[in-house]
Amino acid sequence: MSLPMPRPRSLLPIRILPVGALSAALALLAAPLPDDPACTDEDRRYMSRAFELAREGVSKGNAPFGALLVRDGRVLAEYHNRVATTTNSIQHAETGLIATFGPGIPRATLAASTLYTSAEPCTMCCGAIRFAGIGRVVYGVAESSFERIITGTDNTNHLGSREVFARTAPQVKVLGPLMEEEGLVEHRAYWPGHVNPARPRVKKD
Ligand SMILES: [Zn+2]
Repeated sequence: MSLPMPRPRSLLPIRILPVGALSAALALLAAPLPDDPACTDEDRRYMSRAFELAREGVSKGNAPFGALLVRDGRVLAEYHNRVATTTNSIQHAETGLIATFGPGIPRATLAASTLYTSAEPCTMCCGAIRFAGIGRVVYGVAESSFERIITGTDNTNHLGSREVFARTAPQVKVLGPLMEEEGLVEHRAYWPGHVNPARPRVKKD
């Protein structure tokens, strides 16, 4: 007669997380994407400023997105997202900048300018950039990276800015991601405590 096997007291000293919470936690830990090798030191300098503007937006009650327009080493305009404080859903950093400052900037200057944005422009902002005639865009955090944090999933079923510009305005040069590690800090801190108004929860019957 064999002796009974002793029962293990505990297999794992951790609590099992629900799938949603686990994926959200993993999303927060996702490694940043590498920099676009075509970006320059000057691009990095202005991207730091875009991240500063994103933080400024958060300090004033908005989501962490900032943008600036630069031509030949001169900053022409700066803006940060104001969707929450204005309750205006088109007050993204890029559209806000273009609507506020674009009318005062000659078309030739816009065409020779770079728009630095702390995160990859959405389809609406790509349209605004296209119609403003801005020639070059450099983004910090890829949309797939901050979407992963916002949604807590790996669902990256989105239309990336490169595809939008390639199909609608191929003359716009797009670079990014750039300095994601720095840019993601603010997103990791911000989104877990905020509901994204662009993704209202659908009530299920
Ligand atoms: Zn946008």
